[in-house]
Amino acid sequence: MNRADLHGIGMTSRRTRERLIQRLVEQGIENQQVLDVIRVTPRHLFLDEAMAHRAYEDVALPIGFQQTLSQPYIVARMTELLLEGGAPRRVLEIGTGSGYQTAILAQLVEEVYSVERIKPLQQKARQRLRQLKLRNVQMNHADGGMGWPERGPFDGILAAAAPERIPEELLRQLAPGGRLVIPVGGESQYLHVVDRTHEGFETIVVEAVRFVPLRPGTVR
Ligand code: SAH
Repeated sequence: MNRADLHGIGMTSRRTRERLIQRLVEQGIENQQVLDVIRVTPRHLFLDEAMAHRAYEDVALPIGFQQTLSQPYIVARMTELLLEGGAPRRVLEIGTGSGYQTAILAQLVEEVYSVERIKPLQQKARQRLRQLKLRNVQMNHADGGMGWPERGPFDGILAAAAPERIPEELLRQLAPGGRLVIPVGGESQYLHVVDRTHEGFETIVVEAVRFVPLRPGTVR
């Protein structure tokens, strides 16, 4: 990969990226580490060429298979929530998609375990993470609603697809002191934060969001 690919030109230039960071700050993102990682991560590499020129707009963008790369604001917000109170060591991500959120996490925590149900999306994401030399990521082609029991428990779990209700399995695979950040609902969805304490689970509903649904089964 040459320098222009990695750093971007024109619509993917440093100035364009800086504008995005400014927008995230205006929307209330406060974690400097999260902002720094978003600033240096080339979001345009996670999109097909036809979409790459829109990479630094604060919008969700199509990645094929009726799925979307999440809006930078929501990536920032969820990551910030996951990191609140100290960076978790081992994180499970559900819905790898393009791999963008995965790349952000991989630069902030020690180990990322990412599950995706659509094989071709996973394969592309894997290539991109390799390009960026992010080696602390393990991927699984499976139904993330079941978590990743062989690798659990996790200090943090982040879901990029919305179930109607929080799957029991995810709660089970959350370590004591761990936190789950997940959109929940159907027509209307809300971002939930669930903390596992030694006594049980504490849930906070954060804000209205719009995610693709968490679907059962896998696609080859
Ligand atoms: N974080 C991703 C968002 C992708 S959209 C990004 O930034 O690109 C959500 C993803 O969740 C889609 O790729 C979809 O295929 C996946 N998904 C939906 N249900 C799933 C499930 N049960 N297990 C694993 N992945 C799932």
